[in-house]
Amino acid sequence: MREIHTNTITKTVKELCIKANLELREDVVLTLEKSLHNESHPRAKQILQILLENAQIAKEKKLPICQDTGIAIVFVEMGQEVMVVGDDLTEAINQGIRLGYEEGFCRKSVVSDPILRENTKDNTPGIIHYNIVPGNKLKITVMPKGFGCENKSCLKMMRPTVTVSEIKEVIIEAVKEAGPDACPPFILGIGLGGTMDKAAQLAKEALILPIDKPSPQEHIARLEQELLAELNNLNIGPAGLGGKTTVLGVNILTYPTHIAGLPVAININCHALRSAAEYL
Ligand code: SF4
Repeated sequence: MREIHTNTITKTVKELCIKANLELREDVVLTLEKSLHNESHPRAKQILQILLENAQIAKEKKLPICQDTGIAIVFVEMGQEVMVVGDDLTEAINQGIRLGYEEGFCRKSVVSDPILRENTKDNTPGIIHYNIVPGNKLKITVMPKGFGCENKSCLKMMRPTVTVSEIKEVIIEAVKEAGPDACPPFILGIGLGGTMDKAAQLAKEALILPIDKPSPQEHIARLEQELLAELNNLNIGPAGLGGKTTVLGVNILTYPTHIAGLPVAININCHALRSAAEYL
């Protein structure tokens, strides 16, 4: 067994929280640049230019990309030959979030109780997903998720007999409903299959995949491309002010499901799609 101390995990989570909030992902920057090149609407072009400048300034001056530095979603892929030593693992991750949000001057946006709504003042707890995988490495991915776009995300339990067109309709309606409120252009994470909870988790995981790489499943890659084209015809555009750039990318993950249903989860992300990962 390979031992990894929780002190290393705390330090890594802290650094990932800062990096993710200050540096827009390379694949997002490249896609924004490509969209700027392809966009013909003058106002849309101007907004895309501003988004790219904003990302550049944030990186150079070490400032958060957006004032909403999100709730910290942490994906832990733990090799089954890894033994975590030291303190409680979940607490070590939360300590990393605490330190990262403090040292990175990131806004603390978490309330301890959904009804009483008292700010925890350190952005903890994070939303932590653990997954046991083969091997002796531990991969940590931190994704700060803003709530302007999280609030527009949704899930629909569909009939097993639905057509691909009907699935697309549900996704297109969700994007129309999000409109300018969720800070377009968007990146969509879609989870198809599993159960209600599994589909929602897949949709979130889909957002940490590169947005410029198609699904390895041919029929799913086709669906991603079709959705991207149809969504970019909606004329919502950057900041909702019109243009060809409503969605930068669509990532779909699938999972086997029950014969009687087809869960469809749509996790909408704004243009500030932030995540950073590290192997230990
Ligand atoms: S939706 Fe995204 S860009 Fe808009 S305020 Fe929230 S984090 Fe920032």
